[in-house]
Amino acid sequence: MPIRLLSETVAAQIAAGEVVERPASVVKELIENSLDAGATRIELEISGAGLSSLRCADDGSGIPAAEIELAVQRHATSKISTFDDLMHIQTLGFRGEALASIASVSQMTLITRHVDEKVGVRISLDGGKLVDKQPIGAPPGTSVEVQNLFYNVPARRKFLKSEATESRHINELVMRYAMAYAGVRFALFTDGRETFRTTGRGALGDVIVDSLGLELFRNMVEVVPLERLRPDLAPIRVFGYTSRPSFTRANRSQIMLFVNGRSIVDTRLTYAVVQAYHTLIPQQRYPVSVLMLELPPEEVDVNVHPTKAEVRFRTPDAVFSAVQRTVRQALSDQPNVAEVTTFSGWNAPSATIPEQMGMNISDAGRYPRQTPSQQVWTWDEDDEAFVREIPVGMEAPARPRKLPLMRVVGQIAATYIVAEGPAGMYLVDQHAAHERIMYEEFMAQFNAKDKLIQHTLAATVVHLSPMIARLLEEHLKVMNAIGFVIEPFGKDAFRVEAVPAPLADHNPEDVLNRILQDLESGKEPGADTIEEKIVRRVCKTASVKAGQVLSYDEMVGLLRQLERCENPLTCPHGRPTMIHMSAADLAREFGRT
Ligand code: ADP
Ligand code: MG
Repeated sequence: MPIRLLSETVAAQIAAGEVVERPASVVKELIENSLDAGATRIELEISGAGLSSLRCADDGSGIPAAEIELAVQRHATSKISTFDDLMHIQTLGFRGEALASIASVSQMTLITRHVDEKVGVRISLDGGKLVDKQPIGAPPGTSVEVQNLFYNVPARRKFLKSEATESRHINELVMRYAMAYAGVRFALFTDGRETFRTTGRGALGDVIVDSLGLELFRNMVEVVPLERLRPDLAPIRVFGYTSRPSFTRANRSQIMLFVNGRSIVDTRLTYAVVQAYHTLIPQQRYPVSVLMLELPPEEVDVNVHPTKAEVRFRTPDAVFSAVQRTVRQALSDQPNVAEVTTFSGWNAPSATIPEQMGMNISDAGRYPRQTPSQQVWTWDEDDEAFVREIPVGMEAPARPRKLPLMRVVGQIAATYIVAEGPAGMYLVDQHAAHERIMYEEFMAQFNAKDKLIQHTLAATVVHLSPMIARLLEEHLKVMNAIGFVIEPFGKDAFRVEAVPAPLADHNPEDVLNRILQDLESGKEPGADTIEEKIVRRVCKTASVKAGQVLSYDEMVGLLRQLERCENPLTCPHGRPTMIHMSAADLAREFGRT
């Protein structure tokens, strides 16, 4: 092809790709414009995950009628005029790209009335081209409606996730802005239903309750700004809320950071938060945090990335330490924060366990349950509620044995089963083993399309936090396919009529919270189906935990079943179920060879 200049339309669509990746990016730009216009109320209406239509209305300053056509042109902005202005940006927008980009990939109608004008104006665009302009009566403020997003860039549509996923992104985004702007009233309507609302009374705590739920908020402590370390350093204020060490998550996705009212993604600062919990929570567990950072605008470069999700700090180390110190201080101001220093490697079984436990292996079967310093088993409060009895003498499934017959010797630390077989000694992680057994049983039933064994509840209504509720909506079909019977029951509430049989003894609300939160992490290896992922979570939840004393019969039952698993050597998440030491290994260790 000869070299040609791209047509304006194609160039605009390419550029739009940078800013407008998905419906949530449109919502983001529209909210930012409303906030920049000084809105105190922002109302969003989304239908079809924002692809059919999406509207953002505000009571901000409005756009002067004479400027409206300019507003939808590329590089048209009222927010900066010189390059220098970039150094101290006080607004969320400044690139003058958003409206033009969104308009080029949709059909847009913009109604606005400037505060100083008597009538408003309405323009309509199709693929970026102006098709209509009319004066119109309207209240002061602006309303932007975007229809048929990406209708003229089908390739972009193909890359979108399911509607439920796109919807959830929008929800999360609105929640984040609501947190950063607690003084602004937000309302979100999804397919005609109100899914989120804040009061705009200005208290961050209120918005956290509205977004993450009261239960979680009760488990948070307030983070208050500390004095500056040295007067010559730029002032960096950090405040917000962070979860108590007893309340943790399997992933970092709920460490939410904001810089000067902008929600940002910053792995280093996320790490600073995690660092603040060092020795307070186990490794691989993460807090929930909502942290606002305020620093002089010239200390932050927000012009790093078109969507401005990443920022650059002039003194990154100072910011890191401010976050870490402030959060740590908030935690240590709390009474009863027990440090976990004695036994940090507990979730990484190794051949040196008996040594770590300070015991002789011949004591294994008689070892008492826990010494006080090992109370770390109970760090995750909700684990306690999930302890489950293994039915004594469970029927061994009619499958060939994959492991040699093992004889139970005893249990160590209420966590590992010591067994002996023809090939030597085995240390079995009871939780991992039980998970494996349940997982294979479950998947076998599921794949055989057998009727899954369910436990029917006297229909229970559970109330979930908005975020978890959206996740459940997203996965409702799969959940129901694997043995749950759940249906929506009003805003963020669901009626649970049945659960998979292994979960019979669990509180359905805890179960749902746990499964969905864990699912969010999405860091599971392998390209397996969402069903498998959820089933793994169910098994993890229902299986016997570390720290649970097992009777001899229970241990035998567990091993008999494990021996007949398809893949007995790893748990469904890929961790080993057992450590084997052959007779030769033992002989070598004791210097007998
Ligand atoms: P930017 O926000 O980077 O300036 P946009 O393309 O998002 O660029 O918006 C272009 C201009 O349109 C803004 O600078 C502002 O003057 C005006 N504008 C957009 N949305 C609104 C709104 N909701 N209220 C008032 N003015 C708006
Ligand atoms: Mg903008």
